[in-house]
Amino acid sequence: MAKVIIVGGGLAGLATAVKLLDAGIAVELIEKRDVLGGKTSSWVDADGDHIESGLHCYFRCYKELLPFFRHVGVYDNIRWKEHTFLIARPGGHHVRLHFPKIPAPLNGMVAFTNNDLFTLSEKLSNLLGLATTWIGTLDYIKTLDNMSFREWRVQHRIAEGVERKLWNAICLSLGFIGAEDMSARPMATIFHYFATVADASQFGTLDGSPNERIFKPIAEWIVRHGGTLRTGVKATAVELEHGGVAGVRLADGSLVRGDAYVLAAPVHSTRQLLPSSLRSIAYFNNLWKLRSVPTINVQLWFDRYVTTVDNFWFTSDACFSVFGDLALTSPLQYDHHGGSMVEMCVAPAAPFWQQSNSEIVEMCRRDLARLWPEVNGARLLKGTATRIPNSLYREEPGADRYRPDQRSPLTNLFLAGDWTAQDYMASMEGAVQSARRAADYVVQFLG
Ligand SMILES: Cc1cc2nc3c(=O)[nH]c(=O)nc-3n(C[C@H](O)[C@H](O)[C@H](O)COP(=O)(O)OP(=O)(O)OC[C@H]3O[C@@H](n4cnc5c(N)ncnc54)[C@H](O)[C@@H]3O)c2cc1C
Repeated sequence: MAKVIIVGGGLAGLATAVKLLDAGIAVELIEKRDVLGGKTSSWVDADGDHIESGLHCYFRCYKELLPFFRHVGVYDNIRWKEHTFLIARPGGHHVRLHFPKIPAPLNGMVAFTNNDLFTLSEKLSNLLGLATTWIGTLDYIKTLDNMSFREWRVQHRIAEGVERKLWNAICLSLGFIGAEDMSARPMATIFHYFATVADASQFGTLDGSPNERIFKPIAEWIVRHGGTLRTGVKATAVELEHGGVAGVRLADGSLVRGDAYVLAAPVHSTRQLLPSSLRSIAYFNNLWKLRSVPTINVQLWFDRYVTTVDNFWFTSDACFSVFGDLALTSPLQYDHHGGSMVEMCVAPAAPFWQQSNSEIVEMCRRDLARLWPEVNGARLLKGTATRIPNSLYREEPGADRYRPDQRSPLTNLFLAGDWTAQDYMASMEGAVQSARRAADYVVQFLG
């Protein structure tokens, strides 16, 4: 039986393992951390609280991730929310962009006009500007990688207020960079999905923590189907022989060998694993042209409930762009102390990187209290800040062309990960799409 070595136990590595096992190929997955899940992982701290790498929502337009979740038996752990984007503004002023149950793009047109977030001229400019992504194909949208979202917005005469009040927060939530830095391509891609499929923009959250509700069940599925999972084992180098990979060297000095190799690590880690001699090949050298962005995920435990809303919120008026009370959205692991556990993602994170965790926690609490005045009457029991210096690859203009296909020029080496070439942006869906593509190539290679 052919055997494949997979480096990286995030969604891309795990989905690759599942797809290869389905094809009757043995897998050995090597993950450097003690927990699986990578940027979607969670773990339990000394107090017994579940800590997350990042706040995550699952969109209905995730056309490969949702079937994958069904296949491994975790789809029902997603709780779908009301189809509404909630915008939090200072002083407790909340705006609902509600998508009614009518076909797309009409439901989006209603959501973006039937609200008091925008002025009339902002609403009209937004609708007319977005129309090009509704009628454009995905191939047309790929050509938009030569400009920033802001340049695209100006070119399409969408009012500045629309970016300031909404789209900048969405850029920060999706890619952790603002409208001036983000490529127009990923934003136009989501507009395209949202405008062509009625429920594409509806999202859900997990009913508990990722480790309990996704990664433990996926790990069990893999082991049950004969796969080998090795956590707490770091790969240090890919070793070559005769124009292919000979094995993966591990931190303990041993060499693991297989018939094919899939590197499903983030781009900065993949670079560290590859021999520098490979940089003479443009395919590999391009990996050095992709940059990463930092993020900080903050969790705040309060002594009482500070909201009754079971949904996530977006905001342009805080150091974070997306947040939610997980005691309500994901109660299984977060509603156990009789109060809210509000989680938020600080973006952009670079300006705050030098601050201490307690300063970052206090900054988030203060900003949250401006959006939700109820927070002023609550006591903060505990706050944590989880830093990821190299989180997503930086989705800036011009970066897309450097994202590699999953099949490398070395016959038995394949890449996977949200940053490799696939239709979607860097996301959980992108990670699973990359896994399917890598697994297809491996199956083809192994015959
Ligand atoms: C704060 C935050 C919020 C997010 N919110 C959303 C969201 O709402 N919706 C969404 O769709 N996406 C979201 N994302 C993006 C999503 O989490 C990622 O796109 C996805 O999880 C990437 O999966 P991956 O497998 O490609 O990479 P990773 O999750 O990074 O997995 C790579 C794995 O490789 C391992 N590894 C690295 N080097 C080695 C080595 N040398 N040896 C062994 N193992 C190694 C790592 O430890 C890691 O487990 C968010 C990300 C963050 C950080």
